[in-house]
Amino acid sequence: MAFDIRNYGGKTACVLGCGKSGVESARLLAARGMRVLVSEEKKRAELKYAPEFSHPLIEAEFGGHTDRIFSCAFAVKSPGLFPQAAALRKLRASKIPVFSEMEVALSFLPECEIFAVTGTNGKTTATALVDGILREEVRLRGCGAAYAGGNIGVPLSALAGKVKRGDFVTLEVSSYQLEDSAFLRPDSACVLNVTPDHLDHHGGMENYLAAKRKIFAQQDSGGICAFNALDENCVKLSRDCPSKPLFFASAKAPGGIALNAWLDGGKLVFEIDGARHSITPPNLPGLHNMENAMAAGLMTLGRGVSAGAVLSAFAAFKSVEHRLEDCGTINGVRCINDSKATNVDSTLVALKALGAQKNIWLILGGLGKGAPYAPLKPYIEKSVKTILTIGAEAPKIEAELAGAAQFIPCGTLDKALAECLASAKAGDILLFSPACASFDQFTDFEHRGRYFKEIAARKLQKTTI
Ligand code: ADP
Repeated sequence: MAFDIRNYGGKTACVLGCGKSGVESARLLAARGMRVLVSEEKKRAELKYAPEFSHPLIEAEFGGHTDRIFSCAFAVKSPGLFPQAAALRKLRASKIPVFSEMEVALSFLPECEIFAVTGTNGKTTATALVDGILREEVRLRGCGAAYAGGNIGVPLSALAGKVKRGDFVTLEVSSYQLEDSAFLRPDSACVLNVTPDHLDHHGGMENYLAAKRKIFAQQDSGGICAFNALDENCVKLSRDCPSKPLFFASAKAPGGIALNAWLDGGKLVFEIDGARHSITPPNLPGLHNMENAMAAGLMTLGRGVSAGAVLSAFAAFKSVEHRLEDCGTINGVRCINDSKATNVDSTLVALKALGAQKNIWLILGGLGKGAPYAPLKPYIEKSVKTILTIGAEAPKIEAELAGAAQFIPCGTLDKALAECLASAKAGDILLFSPACASFDQFTDFEHRGRYFKEIAARKLQKTTI
């Protein structure tokens, strides 16, 4: 059953998990007059963002869940919580309804148009593209507003008080959020791609696919959903889609699938219900980003958004921070911050996108995730001049990629940047796409990426003074 606050008048809600979403959910519920108990397993001092609650209706407990949670009328689950967490199991056994943060927030939105993006990779980029298009549409129409939230860093709960009737809301929806969804019904959706990921959390590929299916499960024939025609799992999912499926492909698609978006001579072509638009893509590297742009174009054009809005949003679009982000050219060496590449697959995507020539200085390393580095070898041999290693994983990387390129063990990002700039030639690329997590030297990948940009900016200043 959909969440409805009117069913819980005068009662107390329990918000499980005190991350960003939990905090915003508690604030939203309290603002709507509910008493809230926030319950967090970790000690306050262990939290990344220590919350401050000043609202008189909010109480918080840290360092474990007490039995107080079982006297609450319902619970709100933060997306990061493991589905089999003991507290959740006990709540369910006690017949206390558990709702996701996103769906509680959805229940407070006025009638508005919802765009929901999911996929294993590319969600943030595609969400930012859709949001960019909708902001442009709003500007052209001269009325309304567009918001982006969800997994993109702004919990939907934080937006619920701002959205007005008729506005556009774009949601980045992770599989964690989808697994808890029961009534999400976007007007427009997409599944960018589905490759094995987070399988420990979901308990296998079938459950992961089942979670992804929820992006469209509640839609009806009035809605649309864009799918990647080159991704077998997407095509499989599309067969269960109750709304209108739209397909995109960045290369020749298998027979039998009528495409609604494809690439032609450097343009993105969109064809929906007989209307055709040929639009210059955003200035982003790689075919993967063309897929993200095709999905965003279909999701919006398919809902009647103007081609003019898509055109100008694409023309103005800058890469999302830490994803193949251009951060300046120093003495002719182009520096790219791809700190979001926390695994080998993402670094592969980066090398495919930028590796047309053998001119890359690649910074690899950080905290390893256990995956082999060997899949990078052919791309390194083709495009990388030198590998600069940093962090705890350096010895493993050097051992597994021995012979693929020249190595310079650097330890730190500062040393890697200095080594590259001392020897690289104009026209070379310094690619910071580490294939590892950041926690050995940084708080998170954002902290690591910002640090890289800072030291690059300092060098850039010196060379331009
Ligand atoms: P997400 O939010 O799903 O993690 P992002 O937009 O943040 O996705 O991109 C993360 C990484 O995923 C990028 O750095 C790139 O390596 C890879 N990626 C982005 N879009 C795609 C895509 N459409 N297909 C495959 N990989 C992609």
